[in-house]
Amino acid sequence: KTANIRGRGGAGFPTGVKWGFLPKERTGPVYLVCNADEGEPGTFKDRQILEWDPHLLIEGMTIAGHAIGAKLGFIYIRGEFAWIADILERALEQARAAHLLGTNILGQGVDFDIVVHLGAGAYVCGEETALLESLEGKRGNPRLKPPFPAVVGLYGCPTIVNNVETLASVPFIVERGAAAFMEFGSNNNFGPKIFGISGHVRRPGAYEYPLGIPFETLLEAAGGVVGTLKAVIVGGLSVPILTAQEVAGLHMDYDSCLKKGTMLGSGGIMVMNESTSIPQVALRAIQFYAHESCGQCTPCRQGSHTVAALLERIVSGRGSRADVDRVLELCATIKGTTLCPTGDAFAVPIEAMVTKFRGELEACVSAEGV
Ligand code: SF4
Repeated sequence: KTANIRGRGGAGFPTGVKWGFLPKERTGPVYLVCNADEGEPGTFKDRQILEWDPHLLIEGMTIAGHAIGAKLGFIYIRGEFAWIADILERALEQARAAHLLGTNILGQGVDFDIVVHLGAGAYVCGEETALLESLEGKRGNPRLKPPFPAVVGLYGCPTIVNNVETLASVPFIVERGAAAFMEFGSNNNFGPKIFGISGHVRRPGAYEYPLGIPFETLLEAAGGVVGTLKAVIVGGLSVPILTAQEVAGLHMDYDSCLKKGTMLGSGGIMVMNESTSIPQVALRAIQFYAHESCGQCTPCRQGSHTVAALLERIVSGRGSRADVDRVLELCATIKGTTLCPTGDAFAVPIEAMVTKFRGELEACVSAEGV
């Protein structure tokens, strides 16, 4: 809480405050769940920790589990990461053999163990309540909130769900202190952050920098743009796109991104040069979300498919200007009306792509359509 670390999964909610939501009076078990689903397109930072430093996560989970009074933790990892699940299992065995996990850890009277659970590969299982459903062996459908997982979570018990990078930050804070953590970043946006940079850059990859680093510094680290910068998505596919002019001077932290009308999200940065067709990007994006919608609510289930059909018509040259308007109308209708954030996750970025690059969409269509 003193370090003021904000959750690295995408929402940027203060982690200490989240832990504080656990009921003070409780009789049953408390669970800690690590969200290792990392399904947001353009995001590949948690897998660096899982694959290359699994003991950092195990240590972070053990400390977090002790802090919240959990004796059992789960790592929910996406099905596509099966080989990383094997790495985690091996690391857990090593930790148990070294008495760093299990009963009476290091003779200190602390019990904590971790179970790795492989998902079946669904985008929506990155949403914490869908993740809990899946962990319970059910279809990964998001739950209505409230109640929030801190009160009614896994198997109906109080549960804290944290992202991999968040939990992996805990050992540093405990070992070096909150002040050392706060030396990175600036006001309300502290600590180091892993950014994944992909697209039209010379050296795509994962880069760790303090929060608030200028976008240009990250771009330089990634070898610069191939060609001329046209647009950037800075926080994974579900955040609003920024034009080259908008991203100039942006500091990569939660609050600065909000001020620019986008979100830091997961820190998955997708760089696009002048060869990129934004209508094609919008179509590919909505096809993904239409495929991943769990189908529980009409605006997301039906809306995603209707927007996909409209964009397909526009991109193929069979659409009209009215279709472009219809896409915007639908996005406005879908926003804020769905059970989980997936509806907004496509309505908001598609709306931004269509609004900011409307000329490109109109260039694909005739006035009346075919
Ligand atoms: Fe399912 Fe979409 Fe509704 Fe989320 S918004 S619960 S993914 S239908």
